[in-house]
Amino acid sequence: MRGFAFSLNPYVGCAFGDNGGCPFCYVRAMPVARAVAGPWGKWVIVKHNLAQVLRHELEILEAQGRLERTAVFMASATDPYQGVERRLEITRSCLAVMADRPPFRLLLQTRSPMVERDISILRQLGQRVIVSITLETDDETVRRAFTPTSPSVARRLACARMLREAKIFTQIAIAPMLPNNPSRFAELVEQVVDRVVIDTYFDGDGSGGNRSRWLGMAELYQRLGYEQWFRPGAEQKLMAAMSARLGPQRVLFSRDGFNAIYY
Ligand code: SF4
Repeated sequence: MRGFAFSLNPYVGCAFGDNGGCPFCYVRAMPVARAVAGPWGKWVIVKHNLAQVLRHELEILEAQGRLERTAVFMASATDPYQGVERRLEITRSCLAVMADRPPFRLLLQTRSPMVERDISILRQLGQRVIVSITLETDDETVRRAFTPTSPSVARRLACARMLREAKIFTQIAIAPMLPNNPSRFAELVEQVVDRVVIDTYFDGDGSGGNRSRWLGMAELYQRLGYEQWFRPGAEQKLMAAMSARLGPQRVLFSRDGFNAIYY
């Protein structure tokens, strides 16, 4: 078995930001971004009956003897902890369904500390779950410049720490890597995660960086004075610093890293 065969998106769209969401977000350039007339970063569509549908599909997989080979990526296009999740609990309901009928592996990808609310359910999934916290940089100035509506660096590190202390396998997804201080970043994550995945525009945007250029990232880096960071290979110092601190087996890269369902 290699990689995640199923993706589970409780929401469509994204309400993580004013002003068009994260500037590097290529989901907003996809057809799905035109599902609602408002600007990207301001709306979500809720899949209200998702837990019921999921329960049914897991039952089918179980009956077919495939559940033990099923790896689920939640969520591939939209963060599963949108603000409305606090009230609607769609993601939480799906986790409860999977705790009842666990797949081989669940990767829960989010940038929101709201995931802490569901620690008790995640613990029921035990070794079958990986929680992956998006954290693109260790530098709060960079974070504010690129993704001002995302949770702070410190808050996301605290979230990762809490998950790991709850014995949940926790990774930091540095994706896409933003300008950073490699040695400080490695020092910060060493104690709070089991592993890291690093990804770049050039390896991870699905077009060798062209999609990110089209989104205006080269100009944005230039405008902010970080142009030396927008080039293939800019991640090498961070890879080296992370490998030195965590050990190379805990440092993964790009698509193969995200698809690493074994640990
Ligand atoms: S939070 Fe994710 S989906 Fe939303 S704008 Fe940022 S990258 Fe895009």
